[in-house]
Amino acid sequence: MDIKQKELLKSKIEQQIEQYIDDIKGMEEMTQPVKPENSLGRISRMDAINTKGVLESSLRNKRNKLNKLKVALQKINEPNFGICDNCETPIQEGRLMFLPESTKCIKCAARR
Ligand SMILES: [Zn+2]
Repeated sequence: MDIKQKELLKSKIEQQIEQYIDDIKGMEEMTQPVKPENSLGRISRMDAINTKGVLESSLRNKRNKLNKLKVALQKINEPNFGICDNCETPIQEGRLMFLPESTKCIKCAARR
C-alpha cells in the first residue's frame, strides 16, 4: 500500500469514525428507558421494548466497530499496518478499504 492509498484510507476511516459517532449519538437518544406511564398502548410499549433491545445490540456493535476504527487510525502510519497478523503478508487493498480495521488477510480471517 503506497502513501497515496494510505492517505485515502485514512480519510475514509476518519469519515467512518464521524459517521459512527453520529449514529451512536442518535441511537443513544432512542435507547432512553421506555417509560411505563407513557401514553402508548400495551402493544406499542412491547414494540418499543423490542426495538430498544435491537437498538442496544446494534449500538454495542457500532461502539465496537468505532473502537476498532480508532485503533486502525492510530496504527495506519506504522510500518506493519496492513500486514496480516498471522501470515505477515500484505492484506489485500480492497479488503482494507472495505474493512479498514482488518488485522488479518482474507485467507487467515476465513480460517478462523
Ligand atoms: Zn494472513
